[in-house]
Amino acid sequence: MHVGIIREYKTILSDADNNGVVDAYKSVAEGEKDIRQNVYDNHSGIAFGNWKNGYLDMGDVKALDKVGEGGASGAGAIIHETIEQFEKAKMGLKNGDEGRVVKNMKGNKIRLDYLKAHTIANTIEDLVNGNKKLPGGELKDRSFLESDGTVTRQLINVQENGVPLRPIEVDKIKLD
Ligand SMILES: [Zn+2]
Repeated sequence: MHVGIIREYKTILSDADNNGVVDAYKSVAEGEKDIRQNVYDNHSGIAFGNWKNGYLDMGDVKALDKVGEGGASGAGAIIHETIEQFEKAKMGLKNGDEGRVVKNMKGNKIRLDYLKAHTIANTIEDLVNGNKKLPGGELKDRSFLESDGTVTRQLINVQENGVPLRPIEVDKIKLD
């Protein structure tokens, strides 16, 4: 990944002066590991991104900013997916690899490497968004603690498989 891509992405990002975005991107672009991301627009099978194949859905990303500030942002979503792929590359995993998967006592799949990368990506995404994802949320209903002490509840219409409806519908509700 080349440093020039930072400039490319800055035209897409809602807040071009956001230092958190630039710093996060620089750490990936100047890192010693190459990553590969496949970019789509409103893909019917992707929710923002995909760990295994490095997908990034720009239609989803843009929808976050269209409904105003607070909650998740397009910049934060891009950084999240990118950091995840960078952490994956650092683990020695390739595009298409799932990483370590174990089964818990209930027989459910736990994606260990994904969860490790996802947790790091969430931390950086919070920095970029300037807020904090509150625990217990999921894609369709998630709340964020904003820096001014207010809470943004973010709703996304998803299908049964957890992927957003097409076109994606995002709603942000400000709670005092
Ligand atoms: Zn993630």
